[in-house]
Amino acid sequence: MKRLVVVGNGMAGIACVEQILKHDPQFEITIFGDETHVNYNRILLSSVLAGERSADEITLNPVEWYVRNGIQLRLGVRVVDVNSQAKNVTGDDGSVTPYDTLLLATGSSAFKPPIEGLDKQNVFAFRTLDDTRELLLRAKPGVKAVVIGGGLLGLEAARGLQVQGCDVTVVHLMSTLMERQLDPDGGNYLTGKMEDLGVRVLLRRSTTAIVGDERAEGVALEDGEILEADLVVVAAGIRPNVELAYKAGIQVNRGIVVNDHMETSDPDVFAVGECVEHRGVCYGLVAPLLEQGKVLAATITGNKGPEYTGTLLATKLKIMGVDVFSAGDWSEQHADPVRFEDRALGVYKKLTVRDNKLVGAILVGDTSDSHRYMDWLRSGADLSERRSHLLFPPPASDAGLDIAEMSDSATICGCVGVTKGAIIQSIHERGVCTLSQLKETTRASTGCGSCTSLCQDILRAVAPDFEEEGKKVLCGCVPFSQDNLREILRGQRLKSVQEVLDIYGNGKGCEVCKPALSYMLDMIWCGDHDEDRSARFINDRVHANIQKDGTFSVVPRIRGGVTSPAELRRIADVAEKYNVPMVKITGSQRIDLLGIKKEDLPKVWADLGMPSGQAYTKGVRMVKTCVGTDFCRFGTQDSTTAGIEMERRFEQLYTPHKVKMASVGCPRNCAEATVKDIGLVGQEGGWQVVVGGAAGKSVRKADLLVTVETTEQALEAAELFFQYYREQANYLERTYDFVERVGIDKVRKETVYAPDAAKQALLDRLRKSKAAARDAWLEGQAPVNPTQFIPLRPIESVLS
Ligand SMILES: Cc1cc2nc3c(=O)[nH]c(=O)nc-3n(C[C@H](O)[C@H](O)[C@H](O)COP(=O)(O)OP(=O)(O)OC[C@H]3O[C@@H](n4cnc5c(N)ncnc54)[C@H](O)[C@@H]3O)c2cc1C
Ligand code: SF4
Repeated sequence: MKRLVVVGNGMAGIACVEQILKHDPQFEITIFGDETHVNYNRILLSSVLAGERSADEITLNPVEWYVRNGIQLRLGVRVVDVNSQAKNVTGDDGSVTPYDTLLLATGSSAFKPPIEGLDKQNVFAFRTLDDTRELLLRAKPGVKAVVIGGGLLGLEAARGLQVQGCDVTVVHLMSTLMERQLDPDGGNYLTGKMEDLGVRVLLRRSTTAIVGDERAEGVALEDGEILEADLVVVAAGIRPNVELAYKAGIQVNRGIVVNDHMETSDPDVFAVGECVEHRGVCYGLVAPLLEQGKVLAATITGNKGPEYTGTLLATKLKIMGVDVFSAGDWSEQHADPVRFEDRALGVYKKLTVRDNKLVGAILVGDTSDSHRYMDWLRSGADLSERRSHLLFPPPASDAGLDIAEMSDSATICGCVGVTKGAIIQSIHERGVCTLSQLKETTRASTGCGSCTSLCQDILRAVAPDFEEEGKKVLCGCVPFSQDNLREILRGQRLKSVQEVLDIYGNGKGCEVCKPALSYMLDMIWCGDHDEDRSARFINDRVHANIQKDGTFSVVPRIRGGVTSPAELRRIADVAEKYNVPMVKITGSQRIDLLGIKKEDLPKVWADLGMPSGQAYTKGVRMVKTCVGTDFCRFGTQDSTTAGIEMERRFEQLYTPHKVKMASVGCPRNCAEATVKDIGLVGQEGGWQVVVGGAAGKSVRKADLLVTVETTEQALEAAELFFQYYREQANYLERTYDFVERVGIDKVRKETVYAPDAAKQALLDRLRKSKAAARDAWLEGQAPVNPTQFIPLRPIESVLS
C-alpha cells in the first residue's frame, strides 16, 4: 500500500481524505494536525464565541471516524520540515514519517499587521478553537474589547464578544465595513446595523500600537486617540501557510501554486484548501476547498480527469439579525446596477447586470433571495425575460418553482458544498425523506443553517414520503393540516369546535381533533372563543390528573417551588381530611396529593385555597428554580425571583403540549434548566435563555435562544418564544420537536431578532390570552383566600 501523508487536519484536508476514501482505499494514511482537536467546522467558531454552540457541537469527524478508516492521527504534532528528495516529513516531536504521496492542507494563519505590541497578553487572533476558548475565558460583562478589522471575521468576533457582555469597539482602516464584499451604501447599512446591536464602529482609523506593560491596556490610533482595551482581537486578514512548500522546493507565489488537477510543481506533492493559489487566486472560504478536494481525490487515486476551474465567491455574514450576502462582481463598471433600499426597514439590495446576465449581488437586511441570485450567477442565465422582476419576483415564482428552475449543479449548502443534484440523489438512492436524515447523509444544512428552508423545499418537492409535520392532515374528521386549520379558523372567524366540525369536518369529531381544535381556538382568539369543555381531554374536564385506579392526583401551584409554612399546613390538613394515600414531592419540586376521589376534587381545591398547578394539562406546568443569589455562594442571578415571575406570567395558559421550565442562578445548573422547554441560565452580568430542551423519553440539550443582560430582557425573550411556540407548533408537538423541526435560527429570527413591531404583536397576543385566563380550580368554587391570587405585578417590583 502506498503511504499518504496529510499535513493539516482542517476542513480542506479532511474533506479531501473523505473523498479519497470514497475511491478505492489504496493508501495507508497518516494525518498531522498541530491543533489538539479533531477536525471541526471552523466556520462555526463564531457561533461558539457567541455561546450558540459548544466546542463539541462543531466537531466534524470524531476520533472513531479516524479509527474506523484506519487513519493514523498525529494530533498536536506540527510538521516542521519536508524532505522531497528522501520523501519524508519531520514533526516537531522529532518523528520522521516517510511518504509516497504528500498532501499539504496547511490552511492559513491570521495576518499580523505592522502594529507594535501584538505580543502582549490578551491580544488574540480569531482563527482556531484555542483562540476562541481563550476569548471566552476573558470575555465577561464590562470587559472592554477592541477588534482590529471590520471584515467578516472581525464583525463576527465583535458580535460574539458583545453577546458575552463585552463593551466592543471595531476599528477599521477603510471607509466601509467588509469593503471587499460591500459597496459604500451596503457598508453604511451594515454599520448602522452593527451600531444598533451595540457595537461601536470606528471607520477610516488606523491602529499603530497595543499599549500596556505586559498585557494589553489600550489600542493607540494614528490620530493619537487611545481606546481603552482589556482584550484585543486582531482580525486583519489571513495569509496562506506556505513555509513547508518552500522547504520542499515547490513553486509558491502568494499560495502554493496548483494546476487544474490540484498538482503542485512536485509530482508527489499535492495541495488543497486555503494554502493554495489556483489561477492566481487564494481562497478564504469553504466552498472552493470542497470543490478542490473532489478534484484532488480523483487525481491522487489514479482517476485523474475532473478539473478545478475556480469558484464563484459568495459571502454571508453569520450574525443573527444582521443579514448580509455578497457574491460576484458588484462593481458598476460596464454593468447596469439594479437597486432597492428602504431605510426604515434597513434593507439594501443591489444587483449588477452585464449583457443581461447577473454578475454580482449585494443584499443587506434581507438575504432570502440569495439562493436565486447564486443560481443565476453560477448558471449565467439569460435574464432578458425577467428584467422587470429581478428584485421582486412575480408571485408565481414561489419556492417550489425556484427549486425546479435550479440546475442540478446548483450549490444548496455553501458551507459544506452540497449541490441540488447530491440532495436529490440521496433522496432517490438512500431513501432520505426528513431533514435530519438529509443532514446525516449529505451534511447539507449542518453549517450556518441558512440553506435549511431550501433543503426542505427540495425534500418537499422530491421525496415521495416527505411529510412535514405541519402539513399532516389532523385526522379523518377534519381532513386539513394544522397550518391550514389555523388559517381557516382565523380567516373564517370560527369560534367553536362544533362550528369547525360542521363546516369543515364530519360534524362529529374525535378524541384527536376535538382537543386540538379547542386548543387552536383558545390560542387564536386569545381566550375569546366559545369554550366547549366536552371537547377537552378528561384531565382538562376535571382539572386533575387521572390515575390508573380511577382516582385523581392534585398538584397545587407553588410558584418557583417556593412555599410557606401556612401553605404546607393547609396541604397537610387536606391530606389528612381526605385520607390522601400518598403525598409526594415530584421531580419538579411540587407537592402531589395522589389518590383523591373524583367527587372530593372540588372540596379539596376549596380547602387548599391554592391555584391549580395544572400538572394534568397540555399547558404550562411549572418553573423549577435553584436558590440563586439569596443563599447560594455561586449564585450570580436571582433565579428564584425570575422563576416565580416566569411562572406567574405563563401559568393558566394552554400550550400545544406541556411546557416545563427552570431558572438557575449560574451555569452549575442545579435545577437542570438546559433540559427544559424554556430555561433561564444566570451568568455573570446576564442571562442565557435556552429553549427546546428535554429530559424525559427524549433527551435533548436546549438551544441557546439569546444572551441578555437584565432579568426583564430574559423574561421577555422567554415570553416571545413561548407565544411563538403556542402559535406555530402543532398540537401535541413538544418544544424540542418544534425547535428541531423549525430550526433554532428561524426561531431566533422570528422571536428575539424579529422587527420590533412583530415582537410587540407576539407580546400583545400573549398578554391578551393571559388576561382572559382563569384559574381552573376557581370555576364553580367559592372564592379562595385572596392572598393566594396575587395579581401580576410589574417585574421591577418583583425584583426590587
Ligand atoms: C471564525 C471564522 C469564521 C469563518 N466563517 C466562514 C464562513 O462563514 N464561510 C466560509 O466559507 N468560510 C468561513 N471561514 C473560513 C473557513 O473556515 C476556511 O476557509 C477553512 O477552514 C479553510 O480550511 P483549510 O483546511 O484550508 O484550513 P484550516 O481549516 O486552517 O486547516 C488547516 C489546519 O492545518 C494545520 N496546520 C498548518 N500547518 C501545519 C503543520 N505544519 N503541521 C501540522 N498541522 C498544520 C492548522 O493548524 C489547521 O488546523 C471562517 C473562518 C473563521 C476562522
Ligand atoms: S445553579 Fe448555581 S446559583 Fe443555582 S444553586 Fe446551583 S450553584 Fe447555586
